[in-house]
Amino acid sequence: MEETLLQYFEWYLPADGGHWRRAAADAPHLAALGFTGVWLPPAYKGYRGREDVGYGVYDLYDLGEFDQKGSVATKYGSREEYLSAIRALHKSGVKVYADIVLNHRMGADACEEVRARASAGDDRNQSGAPAVPITAWTKFTFPGRGGKYSDFQWDWTCFDGVDWDSKRNSSAVYRFEGKDWDSQVDREFGNYDYLMGADLDMSAPKVIEELDRWGKWYLETTGVDGFRLDAVKHIRASYFTHWLQALRRSSGKPLPAFGEYWNGDLQSLTSYLDQSGQVMRLLDVPLHFKFHQLSGAGGAMDLRNLFQGTLTGVRPHQAVTFVDNHDTQPGQALQSWVSPWCKPLAYACILLRQEGVPCVFYGDLYGIPHDRIQPVEALPKLLLARKYCAHGQQTDYLDDPDIIGWTRLGEGSAMAVVLTDGPGGGKRMCVGTGMAGTTFVDLLGGRGERILIPENGTESFPVSGGSAAVWVPEDTARRIDGELKSGTAGQ
Ligand code: CA
Repeated sequence: MEETLLQYFEWYLPADGGHWRRAAADAPHLAALGFTGVWLPPAYKGYRGREDVGYGVYDLYDLGEFDQKGSVATKYGSREEYLSAIRALHKSGVKVYADIVLNHRMGADACEEVRARASAGDDRNQSGAPAVPITAWTKFTFPGRGGKYSDFQWDWTCFDGVDWDSKRNSSAVYRFEGKDWDSQVDREFGNYDYLMGADLDMSAPKVIEELDRWGKWYLETTGVDGFRLDAVKHIRASYFTHWLQALRRSSGKPLPAFGEYWNGDLQSLTSYLDQSGQVMRLLDVPLHFKFHQLSGAGGAMDLRNLFQGTLTGVRPHQAVTFVDNHDTQPGQALQSWVSPWCKPLAYACILLRQEGVPCVFYGDLYGIPHDRIQPVEALPKLLLARKYCAHGQQTDYLDDPDIIGWTRLGEGSAMAVVLTDGPGGGKRMCVGTGMAGTTFVDLLGGRGERILIPENGTESFPVSGGSAAVWVPEDTARRIDGELKSGTAGQ
């Protein structure tokens, strides 16, 4: 079965400590929808305690077990509930991808006096300023954990820099004296090693050793199956080559990983993959921006170029495709939300084509109450269309600026997908002579016709304006509708 992932959170989930319990209860439903894996949010204590979405990492060893940062549980629940959720997902045959945030630490327990240079303007390679003593929040002693699991304590020598000098109450990107920013990172600002908080020195042997130890502990403790790697453009590519290969060797597990390299420029992504030795896939950020562009172009986009300049287009085996995520949703820093009209088109592209591993967004599957955003109604149907019909040979008809389509011909199944950002029309496509005499209907219900496939297997498949139509045999559509009405998939 093809892999299908779900990002099992959005930014504004209630901070009620109930998310791990909900994930456990949801496991059979997710399996019935065809999900083979879920990406769970960062499970360790952030500096904002129970309010932290998880990216403001304070203590990697605190999975909701210690009274630190104002609570024992994280935003999502306790350590025991996290481990139960993973067991429940495994019991349903769903793999778990853990969100791994190694780039920075926040909420230090104490500060230290360190000599550092403020970077000049927007170029972090330039530091004309002399090194001066600053007061940096870099001492992590984890008094609430008291040395359990690891007695490693962090101080400024584990980091390259910070962005706050408490001595002067002054904000700038400070690089510690004797430290260099990592190479093999994104080139924005000259060097984009520094993102936020206390930035880990990924070349310091003791940091490398401690993160190896932690990785082993985390894997043995949780039994997760793979990783989503946060903020990789701020971490040298070869670091993950080491971290992943060491864990794969010691565990004997494949441990698939996909990284978040937030840049719409394809070249930046492919060179990172090459520098990392292809140890991971990357989220296809350029494809997300294509969807966002399509969504706002008012029908003016040339659909023939939809996959041009995307990772999916050039390296399908290294792409994890997505439509939106917790950073692109309304109210977030990287907001670039794909409009509701465009969501079925975008999801048809990632779920019903053979290229890339798709990752569905929780906010699209379940809605975002915080912003009164409704679930994408077509999504469960598209997921089951993937499960039953997105198999076998794919034939593309990406030949018209306003209407494109493709067919899939699997063993005993066939599907014709057609989508348009224009006024609508039809697309002549072949679903195989084996389907002659079979009646096809639009699973998404935008078109009411019943289409009888002629002897040559070729017919014009219609689509209404600004929408997607998914033509499948009538009995397949009936089966999918039935599962969504009364089966586990419909819960
Ligand atoms: Ca960094």
